Amino acid sequence: MAGKTIFKRIIDREIPAKIVYEDEHCLAFEDIHPAAPTHLIVISKKEIVSVDHVEGEDEAVVGHLFVAMRAIAAKLGLDGGYRVVTNCGRDAGQEVMHLHFHLLAGRKFGWPPG
Ligand code: AMP
Repeated sequence: MAGKTIFKRIIDREIPAKIVYEDEHCLAFEDIHPAAPTHLIVISKKEIVSVDHVEGEDEAVVGHLFVAMRAIAAKLGLDGGYRVVTNCGRDAGQEVMHLHFHLLAGRKFGWPPG
């Protein structure tokens, strides 16, 4: 089997992360290279590679991630809004092959994204 991704190693507590939220299905921690004043990585504990690998059986887990992100945003008081981003595959610049959402806040974001 291929080696663990860095995010799986965070789930397994093999490397440290600044964890801000955890439940049975997901984990949220601070991005090591923040692109905004608030920049969290929200991951499923289930090892799903990307949006392109989400199966029907993953519906509940993926929906759960959004419920968790809303709860995290409320807990952090992100009243000015926030951006949720997921990179899927090479052209999108996905670096870590474990499904994750970037939750970004604390500044204005441009559109379209780079
Ligand atoms: P991407 O796969 O391009 O959507 O982004 C992966 C993100 O994971 C990048 O924003 C990295 O800064 C972040 N990252 C990589 N390694 C770590 C780590 N050990 N702890 C926290 N964030 C990380």
